[in-house]
Amino acid sequence: MSCGLCFECDNCVVYCPQTAVFRVKKDKSTTGRYVDTDYTKCIGCHICSDVCPTGYIQMGLGE
Ligand code: SF4
Ligand code: SF4
Repeated sequence: MSCGLCFECDNCVVYCPQTAVFRVKKDKSTTGRYVDTDYTKCIGCHICSDVCPTGYIQMGLGE
């Protein structure tokens, strides 16, 4: 379990049609994030924010 809202359910990783969401390795994560988004692949379909049960992913960040 990480701090914050994300509980690592992998929904966003599984459902992203562009595989733009990826897991951040624990030892590579400097910001405490479990998942991150490759904005060069993201098409802005909102699926990740729809399937996230906690609202951890919000659209508009980094856009
Ligand atoms: S909005 Fe972007 S990151 Fe989210 S599911 Fe769609 S393509 Fe993937
Ligand atoms: S869908 Fe939400 S709670 Fe699940 S791993 Fe992604 S950010 Fe975390």
